[in-house]
Amino acid sequence: MTAPLPIPTNDTARAEEPVQMQVQVAVPLFAISGELSYSVPTELATQAIPGMRVIIPVGKRKFVGVITANNHISSVDGTRLRPIEQILDELPLLSPEQIELCRFVASYYVAPFGEVIKLCLPPGTQALLKTAKIGKKAKLKAASHSHSQHAAQSGLVAEASPATLSPHQNTAISTILTNPPGAYLLEGVTGSGKTQVYLEVARALLAKGLSSLFIVPEIALTEQLLARLQAFLGEPVVLLHSNLTPAARREALFTLATGNARIVLGARSALFAPVKNLGLIVVDEEHEPSFKQEESPRYHARDVAIYRAKLESAIAILGSATPSLESLYNVDCGKLTHLMLPERVSGARTLPKIEVVDLRARKAHRQSQREDRAKSEGSRISILSRPLKEALAACLAAKQQALLFLNKRGYAGIVVCDTCGHMGMCKECSVSLTYYKSKNAMLCHQCGHTERATEKCPECSNDTVALGLGTERIEDEVRALFPDARTGRLDRDAVRDQSELQELLTQTQAGLIDVLIGTQMLAKGHHFPNVTLVGVVLADTALSMPDFRAAERAFHTLVQVAGRAGRGDEPARVIFQTFNPEHPAIGFARTHDTEGFVAYEKAIRAALKKPPFVRSALVRVESTDPRLAKQLAGLVADDLRVHIAHTNVGAQCQVLGPAPAPYEKLRGFTRYHLFISTLGSKLRSQLIAHIQNMDELKKSVRQKRCRLIVDVDPVHML
Ligand SMILES: [Zn+2]
Ligand SMILES: [Zn+2]
Repeated sequence: MTAPLPIPTNDTARAEEPVQMQVQVAVPLFAISGELSYSVPTELATQAIPGMRVIIPVGKRKFVGVITANNHISSVDGTRLRPIEQILDELPLLSPEQIELCRFVASYYVAPFGEVIKLCLPPGTQALLKTAKIGKKAKLKAASHSHSQHAAQSGLVAEASPATLSPHQNTAISTILTNPPGAYLLEGVTGSGKTQVYLEVARALLAKGLSSLFIVPEIALTEQLLARLQAFLGEPVVLLHSNLTPAARREALFTLATGNARIVLGARSALFAPVKNLGLIVVDEEHEPSFKQEESPRYHARDVAIYRAKLESAIAILGSATPSLESLYNVDCGKLTHLMLPERVSGARTLPKIEVVDLRARKAHRQSQREDRAKSEGSRISILSRPLKEALAACLAAKQQALLFLNKRGYAGIVVCDTCGHMGMCKECSVSLTYYKSKNAMLCHQCGHTERATEKCPECSNDTVALGLGTERIEDEVRALFPDARTGRLDRDAVRDQSELQELLTQTQAGLIDVLIGTQMLAKGHHFPNVTLVGVVLADTALSMPDFRAAERAFHTLVQVAGRAGRGDEPARVIFQTFNPEHPAIGFARTHDTEGFVAYEKAIRAALKKPPFVRSALVRVESTDPRLAKQLAGLVADDLRVHIAHTNVGAQCQVLGPAPAPYEKLRGFTRYHLFISTLGSKLRSQLIAHIQNMDELKKSVRQKRCRLIVDVDPVHML
């Protein structure tokens, strides 16, 4: 089968001259920011349509690129162009909508077009390829009926038990299905059955022949949703995430491109999948910062999802128990329709009661501290307060399960000499090394650098002490206090891959673990019906981040962690330990008052002119030469301020910095940044373009003496 040749979009041929086809090709190379033009040999003309992969010469080398546009030109003009050498596919691998989506992402996030296109391509095609191999290996066969591994399994689990829907769920589903395709924010308290809403909508759309795309913030969450999707929809589900082998990823993309699967589940990059007849995009846990890609192209999956849905006249549903301020702002602007699920549908039906333990008050209890000291080895004071310990004891006695949350890995955050003050720091990064007792090692959480832990100070040979807290230490303390309790740890050190995670979750669900201790990974979406106690060991860790979203993140995390409690029939307790009980993020989380927190935080952001009330960009200059990084960042800031003054836009924008980034040195690079905020996105683009065109900076980037990073709508401020 050969696809029909589309009508040329931009026919510049003059009437009497013979015409020839010209194509624009995006090359997945960082160095090439736009598209390149090539002529098409006559024998390839009928196949040279947008979305096809081609082999093209670039300089003296050959690359695989994607045709993004075609048109006719006079053959006289065409002689100036080099011809494409080969067409690799029989059907376009990318749809016109995908190309359009990539074009938007490239322009909005200031990323090279080819780099964005790479997100749509099967792996292994961006490098220089040997022509002979391609034809056989990566050819997209029109008649291909290959299914992914997961797709093949799923046909067995087809009958779903009819779910009883709450009135709120019914209202949400009928609103979404009876209106023209729109974008929705589905806000539902933890345990309110948001997933069931997604499933019902997807099923109704499947009946009309429309596909659905589900995006989750972490690969860790795919397994759970995969099982539900397969059981409820009775359709093959294609999984797409970065842990797939290149071969599995290629197969998944080809299955979709040929229309052989209609349900896709994956992490953020799955948004660029070649889904046919797209009817629905779901972004679950839309408030999660992991939806923002940290390397180029620095896109935000939530925003790209809305754009793609609009482009393909599909429905977009953003779901969360704790919506981001950005999405709530979009509700206020009319870009999203707000749907609410205010009640739990399963388990104890009421949200758990949250108690706050003021850690400052413990100072008054010297006696109890001495007791703590005697119990935990060494001279440390236990971080588990008396109320939390008593609650743990009661929970264990009742043969129920407890979760302890602390957003720090390792045993202790700092190893310091208490004589001279020398601190174990990473030589490549400006961060202290985290101590791991089990490995007797110190590790940099930024670059992975590891060294043996030393008991003696390398400077003065006196003893060192480990300060601060980590999940490893909490597990140690729990074991010391409750020797019979079976503990498990859920963090990136203890759980290194999907199978280890699955094993730990299965053990927890089977009741083989009494106390599960974990980081952020614990907070997300897991369903543990027998958990009746959740302890937040130190609610303050998130509050101290140097980021204007610190309070919002802390609030989200606390509500999400608390939401893990009481999902079964037993009443549950939640305890927050903190040194800042008066902090609004803690106060509003304690009463599950999302509305109250949002009103408070919105007022602050509006007053400080921070997102979502302004458009923002983070511009960072990085260099292995610390002086150059500082000098260039200063130059950028000065030049930008002069430009702003000249163009008279000072009232519509703000430039903060330059300042050293919170991680001033990372992997050997010294980093300086500027924070730009503007009232509109047009001015932001204009200011970014001005920076990119600065001669001095361009020269240094070209000579590889520095790197320029532009992060549009930044989420990670470190
Ligand atoms: Zn020392
Ligand atoms: Zn490091």
